[in-house]
Amino acid sequence: MTKGTFPIDKLQQLQTPFYYYDAELLRQTLRTITDEAGSHEGFCVHYAVKANANPQVLRHIRQAGLGADCVSGGEIEAALRAGFPASKIVFAGVGKSDWEINLGLDNDIFCFNVESIPELEVINELAAAKGKTARVAFRLNPNVGAHTHANITTGLAENKFGIDMNDMLKVIDEARGMEHVKVVGLHFHIGSQILDMGDFEALCNRVNELQEILDRHRIRVEHINVGGGLGIDYQHPNRVAIPDFKAYFDTYAKKLKLRPGQTLHFELGRAVVGQCGTLFTRALYIKVGSVKQFCIVDAGFTDLIRPALYQAYHKIENLTSDEAPETYDVVGPICESTDVFAKQIDLNRCRRGDLIAIRSAGAYGEIMASQYNCRRLPKGYMSDDL
Ligand SMILES: *Cc1c(COP(=O)(O)O)cnc(C)c1O
Repeated sequence: MTKGTFPIDKLQQLQTPFYYYDAELLRQTLRTITDEAGSHEGFCVHYAVKANANPQVLRHIRQAGLGADCVSGGEIEAALRAGFPASKIVFAGVGKSDWEINLGLDNDIFCFNVESIPELEVINELAAAKGKTARVAFRLNPNVGAHTHANITTGLAENKFGIDMNDMLKVIDEARGMEHVKVVGLHFHIGSQILDMGDFEALCNRVNELQEILDRHRIRVEHINVGGGLGIDYQHPNRVAIPDFKAYFDTYAKKLKLRPGQTLHFELGRAVVGQCGTLFTRALYIKVGSVKQFCIVDAGFTDLIRPALYQAYHKIENLTSDEAPETYDVVGPICESTDVFAKQIDLNRCRRGDLIAIRSAGAYGEIMASQYNCRRLPKGYMSDDL
């Protein structure tokens, strides 16, 4: 079995479970993104902070020049602390509370991605109270399906996100009647872990249709924001460590018709940070049952919830064993039957104390950790700092 390469001696000294981030891979990924996006006129990439808000990870991303896509006041604060300029921060989310909107207004963020008329009214009122004008983009629901897990598709009419695209002209018209908001863009996001470029093409086609309607009404927005959603290869974290950003950006360059001077914004999360992160855990006990054997590890779904929440697959490796593989269910210590990382997988024979790597855990890993069962939150380490 090919395993990832890690500084095992250093990692052996750390208290498990913990997250480890490969800084060099993160930098290479960011370089690929800025090179590929940079080869297209007007492309502008934001990072979806919700994927991973580890301060060191954020610092690398800010240094690469990406903007920040935030979905809460806390994320705006994290982005500002990491040094992202407010002029590159966008604020999205279906349920923004007043203090969060005020935080965005006080910092003069680039744009609010608005998901309903009642929200627009509140932003207008709060901006008026400060004598400011809020820049807003409407998040439209494009009714485009994505070939991904049902829990992470967002662009269908049945999902809670966005404004019905058929109401586009109506909401733009409403906004024009409000003194303290300025419509600067249209926003879309169809889901996550998307690997079929055809799904992004379908979004492009929809955006083109909507822009033609706008043309007929002589309406022009400054920017189109197509969200994120590019997936990673969970099966092959070594061989496909960097997602195919070229195919992704080329799809948009070919299929989406921008108007002169218009910019195209992206909000990538998983594709930026997914592969650089690994959750390290230790085998506590090997329990042999009548029908299977369990490798019980010291990480649980409080550290990485994706397998429990979406039946997500993560490649798992025993880094400290070369013995012949055996078949295990890899399970955590939490008092819930869903606390399982993988069933019936082959690992080099496990013994108590072995260091186990759960790969491709950089996105929606550390950030989704909880303290259920009064467990400690896992620490996150950057390879540069070890
Ligand atoms: C979650 C989210 C993203 C990032 O999604 P990824 O699949 O991690 O790229 C981008 N935009 C919005 C609005 C989101 O909710």
